[in-house]
Order: sequence, then structure tokens, then C-alpha cells
Amino acid sequence: HAKNNGRNRFQLYDTAMNAMAEERLQLETDLHHAQERGELVFHYQPQLNLESGRIHAVEALIRWQHPDKGLLAPAAFLSMLEETGGIVSVGRQLLLAACQQTARWQAAGFTDLNVAVNLSGREFWHDTLIANVSDALAQSGLPAHALQLELTEGIFMEDVDAAVDRIRALKALGIAVSVDDFGTGYSSLAHLKRFPLDVLKIDRYFVKDLPNAPANEALIRSILALCKGLGLGTVAEGIETRAQLESLRKLGCQIVQGYFISRPVPADQIIALLGRDWLQAFDLAA
Ligand code: C2E
Ligand code: MG
Ligand code: MG
Ligand code: MG
Repeated sequence: HAKNNGRNRFQLYDTAMNAMAEERLQLETDLHHAQERGELVFHYQPQLNLESGRIHAVEALIRWQHPDKGLLAPAAFLSMLEETGGIVSVGRQLLLAACQQTARWQAAGFTDLNVAVNLSGREFWHDTLIANVSDALAQSGLPAHALQLELTEGIFMEDVDAAVDRIRALKALGIAVSVDDFGTGYSSLAHLKRFPLDVLKIDRYFVKDLPNAPANEALIRSILALCKGLGLGTVAEGIETRAQLESLRKLGCQIVQGYFISRPVPADQIIALLGRDWLQAFDLAA
């Protein structure tokens, strides 16, 4: 009886595994066609400047408008796209789209708007990176200084000298470079000063327990002081509540991003956000 039970369990497990493998394979096949079908798009999430009360930049975040499954977030497919290497060609196409879109927003009157685009390690290290970025700028007419590329700490750990060279080459194009999710990886502070970065994004891990989280407040204060010393701008990520916004403002964070301000939205919803006076909207005007 026990044996039987065990075999049934094994068969159940086996069936479940097969179903998962099949689903994964199906998703991989779908993903293969997603790019040519135009199903991979950017949504944009605003970054608010708390001094001006205006949207300073938008971060482009990949979404998959799947024909049956609906809108998928990167967690559902990005690692697949990275493993297959498909991210390089998708990233190139989307980077151009983001530059063109931002050039249109600028032409609509939001001349100071910047756009931030994420790069995975695979894209950062690819031979065509510099050419892709420079083509996207040339084809879109977007001023280079309006583009920011977001890199994660992992990239900095692989080969420090080569990474420094590559970031220098990017910066030679006139664009800005930021370190994303700062404080969650293994990069050391000593490394930080070696990289010619412009902006550090404070991970939402430091924000989530605010207010009334003295240790996190101390960490954020230190990060802000460090950035000031190194001449880096900062963006705090993951602001979900008004209390978090207020406490970050008190700590001296100038630029904030998170669901409390806006979730990532399709491009056609951005203009409405760019026109808003946010300090007034949040009743934070001094
Ligand atoms: P990230 O660059 O750190 O982007 C921030 C993530 O946090 C986004 O998730 C965003 O939707 C989410 N987020 C924003 N505000 C809040 C908040 O207040 N609370 C919480 N809980 N989350 C918030 P998303 O869009 O799922 O993207 C996940 C990651 O996927 C990104 O993290 C980035 O590393 C990667 N990614 C996204 N788009 C691209 C892309 O086009 N290329 C590459 N290579 N990676 C991308
Ligand atoms: Mg990012
Ligand atoms: Mg981030
Ligand atoms: Mg992140």
C-alpha cells in the first residue's frame, strides 16, 4: 500500500513537473515571437523632484503584452530573455523606442525631461552596446544628457577595470549612468568611488520600514552624505506611502520614485503626470 502511495505521489509530481516544463517551453516559444509582434513594450514610472514639484525623469520598465496571459511584469520572463540572449536585440529596439518617446515628450514642451533605461549584464557587456546607444540617440534626436542608463551592482563586480572602461565609453557619449538597487548587492564602498557614476538609486529595502526605523534613517543619511561627497545625485526607490515620502523629504532626498507617486504606466498616460504640480497635489508646498 505504502509503495503504491509513493508511486502515485511520484506520478503526480512527475505530471506537475511535466506541466511546468511544458508551460516554460510554451512561454519560451511565445517570447521568441513577442518581439517581432511588438508585444514587448515599455511602461514608464515618474521620478519626482521634491524641490521643484515636477517630474524630473521617467524610468522605462519592460512589459510583455501577452496575447492570452495579459500584461506580464519582468519577473515572468526577463530571466528567460537574458538566458537566451534575446535581451540584447530587445533592449536595442526598446532603447530606441524610449529615446524617441522621450524626444516627443520634450517636443511637447517638457524640455527638461530625462529617461532612465535599465541594462542587464548581458547588454552591458555586449560588443554592440556603445554603437546601440549612440544609434538610438542619433536616430531619435534625443540630447544625450537626457538619457540615463541604470546598471546594477553585480555588473561592477565582474571585472572592475573593464567595467570602468565601459562606463567611461558610455559617458563619453554624453549620457548619465546610475547604479540601481544600491545597498542590496555586494559592491563595496571602495569600489563606488572608482566608477564614474552620476546617480545612485537607494533600494526600496531602506525605504520600506520608514518612518520610525532609526537604523534605516541612519543608513539613508549616510548614503546621502556619501553621495554628496562623491558628487552623485540620488533617487530613492519604492515610496509607497505619504509617511515615507515625508520622512525621505526630511532626510533631504531630492528625487523619489514609487507607487505613492505613480505606478509604471503606459506611455500615453505620462503627459498628464508631467503637467502636474506635485507639491500642490500632495499638499506639500512650503
Ligand atoms: P528596477 O530597475 O529596480 O525597477 C524598479 C522596480 O520596482 C519595478 O519593477 C517597479 O515597477 C517596481 N516599483 C516601483 N515603485 C515601487 C513601489 O513603490 N513599491 C514596490 N514594491 N515596487 C515598486 P518591475 O517593473 O517589475 O521591474 C523589475 C526589474 O526588472 C527592474 O528593477 C529591472 O532590474 C528589471 N527591468 C525592468 N525593465 C527592464 C529592461 O527594459 N531591461 C532590463 N535589462 N531590465 C529591466
Ligand atoms: Mg531600475
Ligand atoms: Mg531599482
Ligand atoms: Mg530592483
